[in-house]
Amino acid sequence: MAVVRAHRPGRIVVLARLGLAMALVATLGAGSASQPLAAEAGLAPKCAYADTLTRYRATSDWYRSLLDTRYRLSRAYAPADLVRANRSGASGPGSIRRIALADLTAMYRAARAAGAPFAIQSAYRSYAQQVSTFNRWVLEDGYASALLGSARPGHSEHQLGTVLDLKTPGGPPPWDVADWGTTRAGAWLARNSWRYGFIVSYPRAKSPAATCYRYEPWHVRYFGRTIATRIHKSSLAAREWLYLKGATTTWSGGSPNPTPVPTPSPIPSPTATPSADPADAPSALPTDQPASPSVDPSPSVDPSPSVDASPPAEASPSVDPSPPVEASPSADVPMP
Ligand SMILES: [Zn+2]
Repeated sequence: MAVVRAHRPGRIVVLARLGLAMALVATLGAGSASQPLAAEAGLAPKCAYADTLTRYRATSDWYRSLLDTRYRLSRAYAPADLVRANRSGASGPGSIRRIALADLTAMYRAARAAGAPFAIQSAYRSYAQQVSTFNRWVLEDGYASALLGSARPGHSEHQLGTVLDLKTPGGPPPWDVADWGTTRAGAWLARNSWRYGFIVSYPRAKSPAATCYRYEPWHVRYFGRTIATRIHKSSLAAREWLYLKGATTTWSGGSPNPTPVPTPSPIPSPTATPSADPADAPSALPTDQPASPSVDPSPSVDPSPSVDASPPAEASPSVDPSPPVEASPSADVPMP
């Protein structure tokens, strides 16, 4: 996707094309938009383009917020518990939510031990960053191509703070590799990331028909090990599974097992409130567990959640400060 075209269409041309494409897309999507989800028999509805706020959109809904070309987060959505992603041991820029750090660390160590280490290409992306990212791809590849390879502002899973684009350490951006999924790290992730709670959102077999985006072997979203295991066993794309479990209606997909959250025990807090992070405790606990004989989510590797005993020093969330201006296409990071 990050194919750099020889020609650079002028801005006016791009904007005109943009309007055309949107009109076309809206027309195509109109049919399925009104179709009841039940009629889809468990499959996600066809890809349509809209700007509907996703149903579960509190930061505590991170595991069930459905984001695709139709559903989005608000501009103001920004997790409050972001930490540097490289605290996992994987090098690279960006932030992820603290709730994903222990499992990311475990995944990185296992990948490295298997001879398939990865690095971080990009991580949390604010709404404002998405504006410039998407505009950059429009200028680079044209609107129709940008739609398939990048998310419109608010629609990116990266805004959740639980999503990473991974790469080969020292290598180019993964989208500049012919098929990053065939690299050691890419192939390892495809087989194993679910064991650590991460799901490849846009797998080859499902993209773009079921995921609405091009195949992206580098883009992983954290669901926690319990839910990631269910998604993996379902053989569905994450988007399909979320629809199936009521992410746009009534949620029936269960809640994530909060095991990986590192306990802040070393902090000598006198008024010991045990709950580490109440704001992010999944709201609905037992009632909505699926009837499925939930398979043993514990992976074979590295059960030690030995991460991050240090106090949350740098948790300050980099909330998008400025209202997203129609940004200049100068971002350094692409992709949904
Ligand atoms: Zn991505």
